[in-house]
Amino acid sequence: MSLLLPWAVLSVILLISCLLSIILIFRQRRLNEIKNDFVSNMTHELKTPVSTISLAAQMLGDPAVSKTAETLKYYTRVIVDETKRLSFHIEKVLQMSTFERGNGNLKLTETDVNELLNMILDNFWVKVHAKHGQLRTEIQATDPFVLVDETHFTNVLYNLMDNAVKYTPTNLVLTVKTWNEKGNLCISIQDNGVGIKKEYQKRIFDKFFRVPTGNVHNVKGFGLGLAYVKQIVDAHHGTIKVESEVNIGTKFIITLPTLKNN
Ligand code: ADP
Repeated sequence: MSLLLPWAVLSVILLISCLLSIILIFRQRRLNEIKNDFVSNMTHELKTPVSTISLAAQMLGDPAVSKTAETLKYYTRVIVDETKRLSFHIEKVLQMSTFERGNGNLKLTETDVNELLNMILDNFWVKVHAKHGQLRTEIQATDPFVLVDETHFTNVLYNLMDNAVKYTPTNLVLTVKTWNEKGNLCISIQDNGVGIKKEYQKRIFDKFFRVPTGNVHNVKGFGLGLAYVKQIVDAHHGTIKVESEVNIGTKFIITLPTLKNN
C-alpha cells in the first residue's frame, strides 16, 4: 500500500502535465491562426487601396487617356477616397499601439461629452448620409461632465459609430443617446444591422477576435477596434456592455463616472 501511493501520485502528476501540454499546443495553434488571419486581412486591406491609387495615378499620367474635366474629377476622387481608406486602416492599427506604448497613460481633461458628441456627429453624419442612412440623437444628459482623454475617447466613439455603419448593410438608422444614471454618465450607440450572436458577444472585446464571417457578413477588419475601445473605457474606470440580436441590431452602452462622482 505504502509503495503504491507514490506511483499513484506520480501518475496523476504525469496525467496533469500531459493535459496541460495538450492545452498549450492547442492555444499556440489558435494564436498562430489568429496571427495569420490578422496578417492576411491587414495585407488585403492595405494592398487594395494602394493598387487602386496607383492605377488611378497611372491613368492620370497616361497620354493615351483622354483628360476631360469629368475623367480628371473621377480619378482625383478615387485617389482622395482610397487615401482616406488607407489612412483609416493605418489609424486603426496605430490607436492601440499608441495607447500601449504610452503605458496606458491618459491625458485627462474635464470634458462636456454632449458637446464632444455633437462635434463628432457634425462630421460623422456625412458617413451616414453616404449610406442613405438616418441619424437620430437624444443627447440629453443633464450632467455631461466627465474626466476623459479627449483623443482616445473620441477614437472610442468613432470606432463604435464606424462599426454601426460597417455592420448595417441597408437602411441604416444610427441612434446616439446620452443620459445620467446613478451618478454616472451613459452613452449609447445603436444600429439596426446584422447583430451579434449571443455566443460571440463576450468575445468581441478580445484582441483580434472577429465574428466568423460565414453568412453573417463579409466586412473586412482587423478585430482590434473593440479591444481598443474596452481598454480605453477600462482605463477611464468606466464600463461597456453590448446588447444585440441577430438581424435586429446592436447597442453599445458606455458608463463613466461623472466629475462630481469621481
Ligand atoms: P473589426 O470590425 O475590425 O472586425 P472590431 O474589434 O471593431 O473589429 O469588432 C470585432 C467584431 O465584432 C467584428 O468583426 C464584428 O463581427 C463584431 N461587431 C462589432 N461591432 C458590431 C456591430 N455594430 N454590429 C455587428 N457586429 C459587430
